[in-house]
Amino acid sequence: MTGAARTTRAAAIAAALLATSALAAPVTDADRALGRAVVTELVAIPTVKGNGQVPTLIAAIEKRLKAAGFVDADIMRVPVSVDGEATAGLVVRLAGRGKAKPIALLGHMDVVGAVPGSWDTDPFKPVEKDGYLYARGASDNKAGVSALVTTFIRLKREKWVPSRDLLLVFSGDEETGMQTTKALVKHPLVATAEYALNSDAGGGSMEADGSNPVFAIQSAEKTFATFRIVASNKGGHSSAPRPDNAIFDAADAIQAVRTLRFPAAFNEITGPMVESLAARSPGAFGSALKTLLANPQDEAARAVAERNPESALMWTTCVPTMLAGGNAPNALPQTADVTVNCRILPGTSIESVQQTLQAAVDKGVPGDAKPKVTLDTAGTASPVSPVRPELFAAIRRAVHANYPGAPAEPAMSSGGTDGREFRSQGIPTYGAGSLAMVRVIDSRAHGANERLLLKSFDKELVFWDTLLRDLGS
Ligand SMILES: [Zn+2]
Repeated sequence: MTGAARTTRAAAIAAALLATSALAAPVTDADRALGRAVVTELVAIPTVKGNGQVPTLIAAIEKRLKAAGFVDADIMRVPVSVDGEATAGLVVRLAGRGKAKPIALLGHMDVVGAVPGSWDTDPFKPVEKDGYLYARGASDNKAGVSALVTTFIRLKREKWVPSRDLLLVFSGDEETGMQTTKALVKHPLVATAEYALNSDAGGGSMEADGSNPVFAIQSAEKTFATFRIVASNKGGHSSAPRPDNAIFDAADAIQAVRTLRFPAAFNEITGPMVESLAARSPGAFGSALKTLLANPQDEAARAVAERNPESALMWTTCVPTMLAGGNAPNALPQTADVTVNCRILPGTSIESVQQTLQAAVDKGVPGDAKPKVTLDTAGTASPVSPVRPELFAAIRRAVHANYPGAPAEPAMSSGGTDGREFRSQGIPTYGAGSLAMVRVIDSRAHGANERLLLKSFDKELVFWDTLLRDLGS
C-alpha cells in the first residue's frame, strides 16, 4: 500500500468510525446501574465445582436476556455432565444481517472455591466497600460475563443489528476441567467463529491513583504437563548397602532436571514482549535479554536472565515440585518418585518434552536401571494466534475510549484459560478484557478477599460497546 493510499484508507476508517459512534447511544448512569446489578446478582450464586449452581446462574442470565427481547432460539444451553454434576455452557446469539463468520465472546461462569475463614466477609454475599465489590468471582470472571451480558442487553434494546452474528460463549468449568469449553467449541454456531475474544484474559493494570495504565492482548498461552520420574530398585537391608539405590538414582535424576535447559525461542508474540521487557529493564537483566534476542544460545546471558522469573516466557521450563521415596528407615528404598511440573511453549509438543526429560535422566543416572519418566497430567497444547493488525487496532481504539493513549500489546500468558481449547481447534483467540486493576494489591483472583474495582468495571461497558460496534458494523 502506498503512503497516499494508507492516508485515504485511514480517513475512510475514521469517517466510518465517526458515523458509528454518532449512531451509538452513549453508556448512561442507568446502564452502569444495570451492569452493577448484574454482577452483584451473579457473584451471589456460588458456582463452585460440585455445587450444581451453574444452571441456576444460566437461568438468571436468561431471565435478563429475555426481558430485553432475546428469543428462546437465540439462547442455547450446552449441557455437560462433569463427574456426575449437571453443568452446562451457554451460547447467546445477537443475530447479524450478513453472512460473515461470527465472532465469539468468551467468559466463564464458574469460580474457584474459597477457603473457609480466610475471608473477612462471606465470599458469596457480595459487599460493596470503598469503591470495591468484594465477592468470589467478582474479578474472575463474573465481571467479564456481566459486562458482556449488560452490553448485549443494551444493544438488543436499542435494536442494533450487527453486520455478522455476535455470540456470547460462556463455559461452566473453566477453573476445573474445561469439559464445557470442549463441548462449546464443537457447538455448530461456535465452531464457525472467525475468532474469539476472551473477557477472562488480557486486561490491564495501573497505579492506585489510576496513572500509567497498561493493557495486554493475550494471543498465546503456555500449556502445562506434570511428569513423574520413578526410580525402582530391588531393595534390601540397610545394613548391606550397594551402589545401586533408588534414592541416589532419584537424586541424580533431579540433578539432571536442574541442569536441563530447553532452548530459548521467540515467536511473533513473545519476540516483541521480550524487546519491550528489555527496554524497560535496567541493568544486568535488561542487557541479558538484549543479548539473548541477538543470540538465543548465549549461555552467560541466559544464566543472568534466569534469575528473574519473568524470563520464563522465552523457554519451556521443568521444575521438581514433589518428592517421595523409601519404605522403611532401615530398608534400602524400593522406589523413589519425583514429580516434575513443566510449562511448555506453544509449538513444543508434550511428547517431545517427555523425550527430552527421559534423555536427560538416562544420561545423568549411572547404571542400567534408569528411572522412568511418565506423563501424569497435561493441559491442551495450543498454537499462537496470529497478530491481526485491524483487530488489534479496534481493541486499542476501545481501550483508548477509556484510557487515551494507553499501551495495549500482544502477550503470551503462562496458561490456564478457555482460549487454549479454542486455539487448539483452529479458532484464533485473543484475551481482550480491558478491566484495569490496581497493580499488585488487586491481584486476588483465586485468593482471599477477591474484589472488583467498580469504577474500572463501569468502564468495561464503554469498552465492549465501542469494540462490538466497531467490529460489527
Ligand atoms: Zn478466570
